[in-house]
Amino acid sequence: MTETVVVREVGPRDGLQIAKSIMPTEIKQRWIAALADAGLREIEVGSFVPPKLVPQMADTAAIVRSSIALPGVHVTALVPNLRGAQDAYAAGAHAVSIPVSVSEGHSRANTNRTPFEQVAEVGRIVAWIRGQERHVYVEAGCATAFGCSIDGLIPTAAVVRVAEGLAAAGVDEVGLADTVGYGHPDQIHEVVRAVRAAIGPKLGKLHLHDTMGLGLANVLAGLEEGIRTFDSALAGLGGCPFAPGALGNIVTEDLVFMLESMGYSTGIDLEKLVVARAVLREGLPNEPMYGQLARAGIPKTFRPAA
Ligand code: ZN
Repeated sequence: MTETVVVREVGPRDGLQIAKSIMPTEIKQRWIAALADAGLREIEVGSFVPPKLVPQMADTAAIVRSSIALPGVHVTALVPNLRGAQDAYAAGAHAVSIPVSVSEGHSRANTNRTPFEQVAEVGRIVAWIRGQERHVYVEAGCATAFGCSIDGLIPTAAVVRVAEGLAAAGVDEVGLADTVGYGHPDQIHEVVRAVRAAIGPKLGKLHLHDTMGLGLANVLAGLEEGIRTFDSALAGLGGCPFAPGALGNIVTEDLVFMLESMGYSTGIDLEKLVVARAVLREGLPNEPMYGQLARAGIPKTFRPAA
């Protein structure tokens, strides 16, 4: 029997937030439509953060509104606080994703709060969203769960404490993020096991960056631990404006190639992903784009999972 793995595209959020130029709204909308056309069903389309800090995200409300009109696409917006969650709700987002950094230094840089002050903010967001008419899925991600360019090593016990706090705050799902991309496969095994032992099935996705070239090796470790949702960005864009040294996300095209070749069904069409790269190139003509599949072409030997 073919198993399904969800590939969750974060390019329009994580990928654009450190781009040097700003992608025009109209091209961003066409890009997201091209991603949806390629079969991506989970897309993080932007973040509700002050445009002064992240000007690439100034059009997120318009992007959420156009994205929810795409059939079958589950639209997520990143929100750092209650105000952002209220904006995401008003725009019609299906889900909000809240970053909670395990590292004290990154937490202060990213949200101006300590990790546990941010866990408390997550509690306020959950309480507010549960009081609204429309159902919105709430996920929180433990950022810098595998190392931090500001604070260095992150003890597994610290990740577990934050994950437990988030589960207690009532989120639907807790993810683990290698925000700077310093994690390695043994660490993925260790942290996933420890967090699952603490919060059980509330543990959801892995969000990995390819800073050290270990992104897909880390995916494999996650698969072995039973993780079935992975974040990635088309052309491997990405990074965090508040985490120096972080390089791009794992590459959607390469991830899909690996998963489908291994027999995991993603529902994503590789040729159409390459088409979506062209729209991305049009919107960000001067940004470097990554990915082995696009460089090498789809091999003749490739057979998607049934
Ligand atoms: Zn990221």
